[in-house]
Amino acid sequence: MNNLELPDYVSRVQRDEPFCFECHPGVSCFTHCCRELELALTPYDVLRLRRATKLHSREVIDRYVIIEQTCNDVFPRLYLTMVDDGNASCVFVSKEGCTIYSNRPGACRAYPTGRGAIMNKQGEIEDVFVLLKEEHCKGFQEQKSQTPLEYVTDQGLDSYNRFNDKVAEILQHDEVRKGKTFTKTAINHFTLALYDIDTFKDRLIACSLPDTPPLTPEQVELFAKDDEALLSFGIEWAKKRLFG
Ligand code: SF4
Ligand code: SF4
Repeated sequence: MNNLELPDYVSRVQRDEPFCFECHPGVSCFTHCCRELELALTPYDVLRLRRATKLHSREVIDRYVIIEQTCNDVFPRLYLTMVDDGNASCVFVSKEGCTIYSNRPGACRAYPTGRGAIMNKQGEIEDVFVLLKEEHCKGFQEQKSQTPLEYVTDQGLDSYNRFNDKVAEILQHDEVRKGKTFTKTAINHFTLALYDIDTFKDRLIACSLPDTPPLTPEQVELFAKDDEALLSFGIEWAKKRLFG
């Protein structure tokens, strides 16, 4: 990433470089950043929305997610729905703040930092951090000092990043970089296994997915109670379907 390519309010920051920032209900801009935003959702974000709403993953997608795929996109992009209230507010914001705070998406946790997971030539994931100092954000006037690495931990981003790194192995796969594209069926399988995990589980149990052996009784029991284990399985399954 080159600094020259970044907008004025975005700057590269080292992982151990302190910055002053704090967000709390006392700041004058409280919840301003929950409006007029394009909030891209990762598979782990959708898992956490499902946990917050206690809905079936299909229902979460139908109610709260917009799926887009232009002809230039190899994979679909998922966004959180905004409300048509004149401010394009997030569907989960209230006067008191975020109504799904403990399960809010990774991008909400990370703001005003941004983390890029870039795969280097050795095939290893490397962290790159940026700081977004937007005009409306008054949190930078607060005195709390922390480094990007400390902020990531404080905001509970570790499990989000762990899953994002696994997904990056698909999105940034060497074959994708070289121009590989996929059939509609393969993309449907990708979306199913990574985002609609309840339907994926039902289809695994019904043995209705191609080239997939039946689940063992231990897997059935594990996936019934551990949605993160199910998502990990889904990511690996999708990777095999897409790249063999
Ligand atoms: S999910 Fe919560 S923190 Fe994120 S934009 Fe919506 S209300 Fe704000
Ligand atoms: S704009 Fe900044 S300080 Fe204000 S609510 Fe959002 S993150 Fe917090």
